[in-house]
Amino acid sequence: MLMWSKLLKDWYSEVKRDLPWRKSKDPYHIWLSEVILQQTRVAQGLPYFETFVAHYPTVAHLAAAPEQAVLRDWQGLGYYSRARNLHEAAKQVVEEHGGRFPANYKTLLQLKGVGPYTAAAIASIAFDLPEAVVDGNVYRVLSRVYGVREAIDQPAGQKAFAALAMRLLDRNDPGNYNQALMEFGALQCVPVNPDCGSCIFSRDCVAYKEGLVSLLPIKLGKVKVRKRFFNYVVIRFGDGLYLQQRQAGDIWQHLWDFTNFETDYELDEAEISSHFQQKFSFSEADFQLIAHSEPVKHVLTHQRIFAKFWLVQIFHNLQDKELKFVPIKDLDTYPLPRLIDLTIKKNKEWLD
Ligand code: SF4
Repeated sequence: MLMWSKLLKDWYSEVKRDLPWRKSKDPYHIWLSEVILQQTRVAQGLPYFETFVAHYPTVAHLAAAPEQAVLRDWQGLGYYSRARNLHEAAKQVVEEHGGRFPANYKTLLQLKGVGPYTAAAIASIAFDLPEAVVDGNVYRVLSRVYGVREAIDQPAGQKAFAALAMRLLDRNDPGNYNQALMEFGALQCVPVNPDCGSCIFSRDCVAYKEGLVSLLPIKLGKVKVRKRFFNYVVIRFGDGLYLQQRQAGDIWQHLWDFTNFETDYELDEAEISSHFQQKFSFSEADFQLIAHSEPVKHVLTHQRIFAKFWLVQIFHNLQDKELKFVPIKDLDTYPLPRLIDLTIKKNKEWLD
């Protein structure tokens, strides 16, 4: 299409949102914003960006921070592997590149957690390198405007889109062009019911002309969603609670939660009591079930967590190598999964 890039960039210069990382060509800021905004809306990500820039003004500050502090600042954003990768990549930039982001797409790809999309965004926006970004927004816009029917979740389709994106790229102004394209997908060519009548591409857009807007982009496979039942016991003793740190190989790695009896159904009071006695070799006289929460459904990308929390008062302290006694006043220094944080906030009286 003639004028493709010019139309996009003109549109962008008129409507673009005023976002702090857009005022900067600093690769550190661009990288931070891109990692934070993966799977996160701008309104939700913005305060996190500001917190990270304030707490870690340079990549060296981030690299030198303790992992627990980084996870704590990330708390609430989900997908915690992003935070761990962010921290690792900061260390790589300091240790392997003297604290400067490499101005090279392939070298950027070597950084932990940096995939083709983020590498292209940093390369083009910070360094004006001719690399095309391809994310969900770009798939949607290109598939609709150019009528591409290849599936975006299949290798062949992804290859075809990557090639088309590179062909269309404005090589003289790649950073601005890439941002314009992504913003266009985020604001104008939205997933459901885009306002095609007011669109700058309405005359040329294949999907609009052929009535395919709601059918494109095409996605084939559906990932099976796993159901899990977390039967949590919030153990209260004196002025504190027992937390445990989650380990590698599962969700929420290195965050803190409570003793969890995971099963494939929801345990009732008698079952919780018996699991608890067995695990800690307690007798009935050693503890008391005080309260329980309503069941909570917590949705993750490929998992549905059905959680219920039981508050248990114990009458003598507990020695268990997995558990850590944490005074209630120190609770907010521990990085917690969102589910745990929300439950604590909802049941404040459990901390009285
Ligand atoms: S006409 Fe509609 S489908 Fe086509 S690019 Fe514009 S908003 Fe998207």
